[in-house]
Amino acid sequence: KDTNTKETFTKPKTTFEDVAGLDEVKEELAEVIDFINQSEKYKKMGAKIPKGILFHGPPGTGKTLLASAVAGETKSTFFSASGSEFVEKYVGVGAKRIRTLFEKAKKEAPSVIFIDEVDAIGAKRHLDSNNEKDQTLNQLLVELDGFNTDQTVVVIAATNRMDLLDEALLRPGRFDRHMYISNPNVRAREEILKVHTKNKPLCPKIEIKNLARKTHGMSGAHLANISNEAAIIAVREDAEVISLDHFDQAIERVIAGLQVRNPTVL
Ligand code: ATP
Repeated sequence: KDTNTKETFTKPKTTFEDVAGLDEVKEELAEVIDFINQSEKYKKMGAKIPKGILFHGPPGTGKTLLASAVAGETKSTFFSASGSEFVEKYVGVGAKRIRTLFEKAKKEAPSVIFIDEVDAIGAKRHLDSNNEKDQTLNQLLVELDGFNTDQTVVVIAATNRMDLLDEALLRPGRFDRHMYISNPNVRAREEILKVHTKNKPLCPKIEIKNLARKTHGMSGAHLANISNEAAIIAVREDAEVISLDHFDQAIERVIAGLQVRNPTVL
């Protein structure tokens, strides 16, 4: 049986500059970054470094990006896994994977562990049941409780469904810092579009502000997608720069894609 985690482990170069908008969340995370960067100071003062942070909110809003920026800003090793990877047929395999993941992270500390879709393992447990999922969740709780203060390992979990999570996960000392990652407003959409068009040749007539107004209801992931689609369309049309028309086509494509999946959106 394969008990290796499939998580990648890297030293990301992502910084807060890559994350547009979300100013309040970044402010809160600055504190966590300081804990990691100056962990010795905090330890000397007898302060415990918070270990569990929960990002919740709609998909595509930059949760993964933010977690990788926390690692980048602290030069930490970044472990990224999805909750669904731990859900296994054989009892004990998921739990073993969790254990291995934390062992590796401690070895490579300072580390940031990111667990996307944590609801796949962290959904409410059933009384008296002892199935594979519950063992995996129990192991995660054991790991969160078991850190000692010599290791700087911060765990960031993300979910679109916080309501599904077992309360045990949210208790003090576990994922006790909750940060809501919202869909961007018009101002944030403008910032996100700026980040994703920074290295693209744009027609000088384009006003990013207007593009932001046209993309109401879209997430950061949609906006990244639109910026890329517009560039692809420009290449196909053999244009020198990306024009407003290329953006309009790209926006239409993304809207059409959304309507296929969910006809009530937009
Ligand atoms: P999911 O819940 O679906 O896992 P997520 O919230 O983790 O989504 P990301 O994977 O971080 O979202 O976002 C996908 C991509 O969208 C990012 O790699 C980035 O290119 C872009 N993006 C999303 N939000 C932002 C943002 N605030 N600033 C800049 N780019 C963003």
